[in-house]
Amino acid sequence: MTIRLHDTLSGETRPLEPLQSGFVRIYSCGPTVYGPVHVGNFRSFLFADILVRYLRYRGLRVTWVMNVTDVDDKIIRGAAAAGIGIRELAERWTRRFLEDAEALGMTQPDVLPRATDHIPQIIELIGELTRRGHAYRTDEGSIFFRIASWPSYGKLARLDPENLRVGERVEADEYGKDDVRDFALWKGPKPGEPSWSTAIGEGRPGWHIECSAMSMAHLGPSFDIHTGGVDLIFPHHEDEIAQSEAATGQQFVRTWLHCAHLQMAGRKMSKSAGNIALVDELLEQGISPGALRYALISVHYRMALAFSEDSLAAAASAVERLDTLLAALRGYREDVQDDPSVDEALATGRRSFEDALDDDLNVSAALGAIFELVRDLNRRIDARTLSTADAGRGAAFLLDLDRVLGVMSEPAEDLDSDLVELLAERAAARASRDWVASDRLREALAARGISVEDTRDGQRWRRTTEPTRA
Ligand SMILES: [Zn+2]
Repeated sequence: MTIRLHDTLSGETRPLEPLQSGFVRIYSCGPTVYGPVHVGNFRSFLFADILVRYLRYRGLRVTWVMNVTDVDDKIIRGAAAAGIGIRELAERWTRRFLEDAEALGMTQPDVLPRATDHIPQIIELIGELTRRGHAYRTDEGSIFFRIASWPSYGKLARLDPENLRVGERVEADEYGKDDVRDFALWKGPKPGEPSWSTAIGEGRPGWHIECSAMSMAHLGPSFDIHTGGVDLIFPHHEDEIAQSEAATGQQFVRTWLHCAHLQMAGRKMSKSAGNIALVDELLEQGISPGALRYALISVHYRMALAFSEDSLAAAASAVERLDTLLAALRGYREDVQDDPSVDEALATGRRSFEDALDDDLNVSAALGAIFELVRDLNRRIDARTLSTADAGRGAAFLLDLDRVLGVMSEPAEDLDSDLVELLAERAAARASRDWVASDRLREALAARGISVEDTRDGQRWRRTTEPTRA
């Protein structure tokens, strides 16, 4: 098995080789919580979700960290406008983000670190950069990263360091930095702004340093994958690389993955462009969560995604076809011989699905493989050539692949694939009236914390204990 991913830094599509065999450490730049997170941002988060789900489906252990930026200029302005503290504003919008994420079936990250909970790590990192001569303090008490001290600056974005940040709105005077290219690690105190009293002085962290401090605090100085939207390549991720590697002397990230924009009516969706769509509003309009999720994940992450009523309608119809087939397979009873060509079709479908996702997470090709199989199974159902057991295997197959996609209305509940296999085997044993095998499989499932009950519509399972994770 080789999962290949397109690394922005090298520009190459390369095999994923985790630093620690079988264990992948991933950091995703998360939301800045000063307002609702629009579906354009969710596209980038759900792309990371698909990555995490697929690596787990492939049997890899994953630790997924997604930060929450809970102190920055927008939050400070928003809190002042609302007449509340930044903590309260950030809590409000963090809650809302998590509700929307859950509605969209996003895997809960293993760690959701908040910037304001990592001030000591940020201070330590800035201290190290200062000691190593990469940072300097201004008269106003701000601390800047000195880009001239880091010759490889610009390598991620492929920019010439000499011409950086021209045209960018630079508040050079405000913080009195030496070079307009330099970026703030620490912002000196200002009236009306929150600040921390620390060993490096009074003030608050800059945005870029947060992600370096939090990712390294939870994943170590070097980790496998860093994700974000393409708009974060410069300056955010460029700055992250510079300040992390300058502080540790080690490679910061092995693979950089960047998700393309979501466009609505031909323009990038953004708060400033004023063309945003929100998760809760779309759901209130009657779009199903599965359809919205499908619309956001179904295009390859490096391609621009055109989001529209048409794309939502197409997504809804695709999800409905999957749900309808699953229900049909589950309710299906036909006393005919098992057909080996069904197993072959399922195996071929699975191989195509995995080949597509192995190829830099080509979700659209993976969906193509699934729908080819959907057509095949529907034909067999119509012709009544499918056996009851084959139908059970088809249903288990769909649910198993949906562990990666997460779009079907009956979620696979993150059941391990060997359990799905055992359930399918038991359904097959019952269909062929092999009660000895059926009882043996019931016991095997019970030992794994799954209790099975037989109903007129086939077997139903539930958990008796929390699943244990290796
Ligand atoms: Zn970040």
